[in-house]
Amino acid sequence: MNIEKLETAFQSEPKFRLIQAKQAIFKDLISDWSEASTFSFNLREKLHNECSLFIEHELFFSDNKQTVKAMIKLADGQQIEAVLMRHEDRNTVCVSSQIGCPLNCSFCATGKMGFKRNLEMYEITEQILLFARYLKTEGQKITNVVFMGMGEPLLNYDNVMHTIKYLNQDDTLCLGSRRFSISTAGIIEGIQKLTEEPMEINLAFSLHSLDSDIRSSLMPINDRYGIEEVIKELRKYQARTRRKIMFEYIMIDGLNDSEQAAHDLARFANQFICVVNLIPCNKTGEYKPSTAANIDRFLKILKTRKVEAIQRFSYGSDISGACGQLANIPRHPRTGQSPISGI
Ligand code: SAH
Repeated sequence: MNIEKLETAFQSEPKFRLIQAKQAIFKDLISDWSEASTFSFNLREKLHNECSLFIEHELFFSDNKQTVKAMIKLADGQQIEAVLMRHEDRNTVCVSSQIGCPLNCSFCATGKMGFKRNLEMYEITEQILLFARYLKTEGQKITNVVFMGMGEPLLNYDNVMHTIKYLNQDDTLCLGSRRFSISTAGIIEGIQKLTEEPMEINLAFSLHSLDSDIRSSLMPINDRYGIEEVIKELRKYQARTRRKIMFEYIMIDGLNDSEQAAHDLARFANQFICVVNLIPCNKTGEYKPSTAANIDRFLKILKTRKVEAIQRFSYGSDISGACGQLANIPRHPRTGQSPISGI
């Protein structure tokens, strides 16, 4: 599906037809032009050829059904993944911004795939639209979109912003800008651009360690954009936008989970309006997650020092759908693949 072809396909039609088409795509959430009953047969055929609504995909469900991973096949045969996380009061879609990732963080499976290319605006859009269609079958809607899937969103800034601006419009999904969050490993130019954006978009920063040597061992990008420089940029971002920043901190056994690290993190976090998100490292290879006792102790230290902190519940690790596990390898320990089509 390429939503960017929509306007061209309607160029020779009266204006109201495009309005009807957008209504059908984004409000009725149709997945095939045959469902657009107000259009003539000929127009539907033309649209089918010029701007198909088909999204080739498979869905994989976690055992508790709270997480659904979609594997989407793109026009050039490449595959990407997106994940739906169902909370009691929210339906959050985690989207990919690139195929693979150039950053090669040592704990993340996506980096191991290497980097293929940036995703186009329409390829990011279809990940979100697919889950909007899926949720509609249950009378529900997407409430939040996080750019925490494959890739580094701030290295694909224009297409990411174009998607957000498009889906923010009244005649598309009408998703408020504050419902979008961008997670970055710390691309300074991207943070600078976001600081100047008139739209209020949430920023999450993958901190993982305040110790520059440890951080570099986890994230090679730290050698290019040093943590001190990034922190300076985050201060400017917050001074200008007044928006709360989310600091993501994956917890790795024996590496960054000491009491001292918790105290350092508390001192650091207290300089920001922020929430710290502790993420037990999901298994992708060499690292072990911190023990539950260590995470508890770490969290307590943060809270005692008045830092807003939460432990992220890990969604979808049984379908390789959790943070850092998206690498186009579908597997389910018991049921194997469960492809569902027709959405
Ligand atoms: N490149 C961006 C967004 C993608 S990663 C970034 O670095 O922020 C989204 C989040 O998942 C990041 O916080 C990342 O550090 C985290 N993550 C990656 N691998 C993980 C793993 N194995 N366990 C837990 N979190 C992981």
